[in-house]
Amino acid sequence: MASFVYKSDPVRGRVWAEIFARQAPQLDFRIWPDIGDPAAVRFLAAWEPPPDIRGLFQNLEVLFSSGAGVDQFKFDELPSDLPVVRMVEPGIIGGMVEYVSWAVLSLHRDMPQYQSQQREGLWKTIQVQPAAKRRIGVLGLGSLGQAVLGQLRGFGFDCAGWSRSRHQLEGVQCFAGADELPAFLARTQILICLLPLTDATRGFLNAGLFAALPAGASLVHVGRGPHLVEADLLAALETGQLAQAILDVTDPEPLPTDHPFWRHPKIWLTPHIASMTQPETAAEVVLENIRRFEVGEGMTGRVDRGLGY
Ligand code: NDP
Repeated sequence: MASFVYKSDPVRGRVWAEIFARQAPQLDFRIWPDIGDPAAVRFLAAWEPPPDIRGLFQNLEVLFSSGAGVDQFKFDELPSDLPVVRMVEPGIIGGMVEYVSWAVLSLHRDMPQYQSQQREGLWKTIQVQPAAKRRIGVLGLGSLGQAVLGQLRGFGFDCAGWSRSRHQLEGVQCFAGADELPAFLARTQILICLLPLTDATRGFLNAGLFAALPAGASLVHVGRGPHLVEADLLAALETGQLAQAILDVTDPEPLPTDHPFWRHPKIWLTPHIASMTQPETAAEVVLENIRRFEVGEGMTGRVDRGLGY
């Protein structure tokens, strides 16, 4: 009997196990390290795959990431012909839409200023801006960037997005490629990073990018810690080029206890909780991808190893 090995959070794995037992009884579902016969393993879902994956699982046919990103995989250590699939599932998308909406609304409605005013015992109003006058920009127009923009448009924000290849999204001004990045940044008052971490995007949130934003812009960073050049963020906050940063991801995670981000008055920090894989919906998506794989259809979230996402 062919088997599916799950190597991630075991509590969520037990939810997957129930769903697989009902919907795919032809597969022997196993939770790492109880892998059974390694030669029977055709599918692996993992956050961190075991070393020497092909040596261990000689008949492995697909590697699924148990999370949205695949930057934790060392591609050069994976067999070059092994299909890799990232997690695109409604639970992750819903969580991200909630988090980014909270962050953007907080910035739009001046909540950081009101928090500091409260600490000072200061009762003082700030003129409310209509959403239509607030220009939002999303870096990355993938499954998450598009969903986030769909929700932000609903609030009436002036929305734009930037990606590698050209997209057309209703109600969103779409920019593409390096040539159009300056124009995208110049119009963006609240910048949201939803890029994957690749060789091309490491260190992307740096002094040059911050300088290209309008003075007093804010950053919501929900991509990956190494996108951000920390010293450049601190400098931009110091000069006022950036007014506020909301960071859900850092490098490393967690940050050392004496790291300046913890107590910075212009930084809100959350411990990588913007969204999480939901086991019920994730298992369904992986089962659908296995069905597609078996009949030769394209799998949702298939990674382009050359691009790294
Ligand atoms: P997708 O792969 O669906 O989308 C990635 C987007 O980024 C695409 O629009 C792509 O462009 C664009 N992109 C990639 N590289 C470049 C580049 N060099 N220049 C310009 N645009 C680029 O990813 P998801 O939307 O599913 O997820 C995005 C990221 O969000 C994840 O990789 C992960 O890092 C992060 N994440 C964070 C979570 C958290 O809790 N903080 C939870 C889940 C995800 P194109 O459309 O042209 O291909």
